[in-house]
Amino acid sequence: MSNNQNDNISRRSALKYMGISALGVATIFTGISCTKSDKDAIKDAKVVGVIKVKDKVSDAEISLLGFGCMRLPLKDIDDKTSINEAEAMEMFDYAYNHGVNYFDTAWFYHSGASEPFVGKALKKYPRESIYIATKMPISPLTNDDPNGLVKSEGVLNRAKEILGHQLERLQTDYIDFYFLHSVNNFQQYENTFIHSGVLDYLLEQKAKGVIKRIGFSFHGPNEEFPKIVDAFNWDFCMIQVNYYDWEEDISDAKFLYDTLDKAGIQSIFMEPVRGGMLANLNPSASDILQDAAPDKSIASWAIRWCASLPNVMNVLSGMSALEHVKDNVKTLTDFEPLTAEERNILAAALSEYKDIKLIPCTYCDYCISPPCPAGIDIARVFKAYNECVTEGNVPNLLLKRASDRTRHQEKIDKQTRVFFAKMNKIPKNRHADRCTLCDECMSKCPNSVNITENMTKIADLMKSLESMR
Ligand code: SF4
Ligand code: SF4
Repeated sequence: MSNNQNDNISRRSALKYMGISALGVATIFTGISCTKSDKDAIKDAKVVGVIKVKDKVSDAEISLLGFGCMRLPLKDIDDKTSINEAEAMEMFDYAYNHGVNYFDTAWFYHSGASEPFVGKALKKYPRESIYIATKMPISPLTNDDPNGLVKSEGVLNRAKEILGHQLERLQTDYIDFYFLHSVNNFQQYENTFIHSGVLDYLLEQKAKGVIKRIGFSFHGPNEEFPKIVDAFNWDFCMIQVNYYDWEEDISDAKFLYDTLDKAGIQSIFMEPVRGGMLANLNPSASDILQDAAPDKSIASWAIRWCASLPNVMNVLSGMSALEHVKDNVKTLTDFEPLTAEERNILAAALSEYKDIKLIPCTYCDYCISPPCPAGIDIARVFKAYNECVTEGNVPNLLLKRASDRTRHQEKIDKQTRVFFAKMNKIPKNRHADRCTLCDECMSKCPNSVNITENMTKIADLMKSLESMR
């Protein structure tokens, strides 16, 4: 099927903020800012709660803020299935009561516990008042399902079984936004979804109303993206977009965004705050943003940056605490696109932030699905390390070794204490030094993180510091 079928849909008309023509914000940090009339139009269009965007497929009004259900609060940090339901429910209620109507989950989020919780939690709201997004996973179509839930033989039968389980888990008769999850190259798309007949089956389900829209999420190399975009009449697509990744080699968000924009496909942005990285910048970068807007959170800059792009239907944030929900709701209720001056301020902060060397991990857990054979909690190790880097608490080994370090002794001792306090929260049997360099995780990382190299670096650093204590 050709994507030309999209031609009869006007992208601009589909992406209106409640009837407003799309804003002309096309570049990252410079140049184009929003006119007064644009701003007034947005204000006039506000309804109670977060701003809404018209979905091009149905004219439905979708909240610009989406609730990602991949990082819900946990009762036990070592057990990803242990969702703290009371806390998560409070977050859902706050979001829903402030206009959020888009909730995104997936088969393997929270090691399979997200979909059942989302089904239970959303049951209390009128079904027609919410939009549920979930995804057809690739791995259980062909591999053993670690939870033993999928028992059928053959890819098509397994896909049918998975969709059946999802409807049951979500306690619904239909899915509003149905993704092919993490389609990363064209060959994989053809082999998994076309030759098997899975996509035809999903189209049948769409005709029956069981699925309302079909799209895909992408985490692969740039050159594969246009081939997949052109291969089908997609209703939407989800890509990783944030100001950090906009023109990065690792994840060239601008290229992905422009490709969808040209194809007239509405986009959903995942990782707007990059797994929390952009909510906690290093002190010099944070100071720039706080000085410019003392009453605004650091994360709000990232959310506003995403929401200021014209072809965005949904900014999907994986929120872990009520304060995240409140902050995001506030940002997109009182939404003001970034001005040219604010873009310059953000560019200056980003430049400061990129001076520190972080592991480019978004803590998404894709690399441990299925789990690391050595049991390592990869995201948690990288998150703890990145936090130490961001806060300036990774001791300089050379300085620590140097004989004339007396001048720096106090600082280094403090850094070492804080570094170990954070790193040692991770259980020993899930830590970096357990890595066997088996490489099983590497190909699963959407951000091309060199996991083995970084595990070795962290393990070596900890060992060296330990020996010097
Ligand atoms: S390379 Fe290391 S972290 Fe990755 S799966 Fe193997 S043991 Fe786990
Ligand atoms: S290493 Fe990659 S796959 Fe694993 S949590 Fe980080 S970004 Fe996600």
